Amino acid sequence: MHTGCEHEHTATISKADLVKQLLALLPADCVLFEAEDLNPYECDGLSAYRQLPWVTVLPNSVEQVQAVMRLCHQYQLPVVARGAGTGLSGGALPHPNGVLLSLAKLKSILSVDTLGRTARVQPGVRNLAISQAVAAHGLYYAPDPSSQIACTIGGNVAENSGGVHCLKYGLTIHNILQVKLVDVTGELLVIGSEAFDSAGYDLLALITGSEGMLGVIVEVTVRLLPMPEQAQVVLAAFNDVEKAAAAVGDIIAAGIIPAGLEMMDKLAINAAEDYAHAGYPRDAEAILLCELDGMRADVVDQITRVQLILSQGGATEVRLAADDTARALLWKGRKAAFPAVGRLSPDYYCMDGTIPRRHLPLVLRRIAELSQQYGLAVANVFHAGDGNLHPLILYDANKPGELEQVEAFGGKILEFCVEVGGSITGEHGVGMEKINQMCVQFDALALTQFHAIKHAFDPQGLLNPGKAVPTLHRCAEFGAMHIHHGKTPFPELERF
Ligand SMILES: Cc1cc2nc3c(=O)[nH]c(=O)nc-3n(C[C@H](O)[C@H](O)[C@H](O)COP(=O)(O)OP(=O)(O)OC[C@H]3O[C@@H](n4cnc5c(N)ncnc54)[C@H](O)[C@@H]3O)c2cc1C
Repeated sequence: MHTGCEHEHTATISKADLVKQLLALLPADCVLFEAEDLNPYECDGLSAYRQLPWVTVLPNSVEQVQAVMRLCHQYQLPVVARGAGTGLSGGALPHPNGVLLSLAKLKSILSVDTLGRTARVQPGVRNLAISQAVAAHGLYYAPDPSSQIACTIGGNVAENSGGVHCLKYGLTIHNILQVKLVDVTGELLVIGSEAFDSAGYDLLALITGSEGMLGVIVEVTVRLLPMPEQAQVVLAAFNDVEKAAAAVGDIIAAGIIPAGLEMMDKLAINAAEDYAHAGYPRDAEAILLCELDGMRADVVDQITRVQLILSQGGATEVRLAADDTARALLWKGRKAAFPAVGRLSPDYYCMDGTIPRRHLPLVLRRIAELSQQYGLAVANVFHAGDGNLHPLILYDANKPGELEQVEAFGGKILEFCVEVGGSITGEHGVGMEKINQMCVQFDALALTQFHAIKHAFDPQGLLNPGKAVPTLHRCAEFGAMHIHHGKTPFPELERF
């Protein structure tokens, strides 16, 4: 188990005084400081990392968020924002001398504009709750992380989350217009605009995916889409993982952009089938789920073409969901795949990397080789159309040394993603988990620029310290930075 805390911060106020001052700003039930109340906040979805926060606050209003930020700034205290804590990279891991700022109580949908097809929502609104709230208007919010029942829109923006439908409809960044952000000093900033474009630098893109490092998101204006007239899903089974991977490229190369194109290998198929009884073929080495949506006539045409491509690509079975109930069942298995795999072993480690789609067969083969080499089983269940991999490495944290083995194995997968021209992050962010691999993905100059951006928003480094962007010295320790005469490549920039 890791605490993730290499980032020291000396407190300038005692805990008792801090609690007293917070209680003057917030109602008593919004300030938690006893260990038993803090326990639920000690980790996010990456439970290998745990750390109790000093204090947790749960503001009821934007004004209260601002007041907390002003107080923390006054005493130079670290602040870690938290949505639902479903993040898988340790982004919401608390700081031992810091305030954990939960946005869970800011969960109102403030307004819905059916003509402009937008909604203004508070950061603690659950992703799925947005679509549920606007369904009566024939609208929905497209990005759909598999965790959508629990994760918040604030967390989605902070991670630039994706989901099954992001292949066609884009990631979070493509589906939001405006963000209200409380900065490190407590100022409220409006970033983006209600219109489809806004003047100046594109700060909305910068804030999206910033992992709580640049400010606290307190409101999001999301774009809504009309529900498609028709949606259909095809399941294709393959007796060879690489054939399934190649078929993914064939579909896109044919000029078809499915609403979702997902892949699961044998281990994942059987785990999901045990859990969700979705009717998956248990003997298949891999399945693809390909969803087409849009106008009825287009969907019918594309389904016919996709079925042909899959058969020509060597599918042993191509099955069209008979109706909406059958379609929902096929997706239920996929959406439940992560928790289902969780029943196969005491622990699993979910990796997240992205590669150019054409390299899917090669990378899956490499993962299988590494699995043999490390003696650890892997279940693959992922957004194949986006080239976004999610190898789930099975292990037992109680076996001494096994976690370290898993991390080394996971690191190798990410480094291979970079080698083939991909990225160490797909949608889960960097957080604590992938901070070393940032040293592989980026050179010293790029990392220095990242630090300069952080410095512009947060000169004292109080927001989510120690996450997402490694120091050059950390990269040197990791062995991914050249040190000459004891100096990193940009000593003049190390003040950032
Ligand atoms: C079973 C499972 C399936 C998942 N599937 C997907 C998937 O398909 N696609 C995907 O993208 N992710 C997926 N995830 C990961 C996770 O759900 C997403 O990253 C999600 O966006 C996190 O939202 P959250 O509210 O839980 O954020 P948290 O985990 O609480 O926080 C995540 C990060 O955002 C920051 N943050 C949170 N709220 C704010 C705020 N208001 N202002 C500033 N910073 C903030 C935190 O500091 C942290 O760095 C999955 C997770 C699980 C457990």
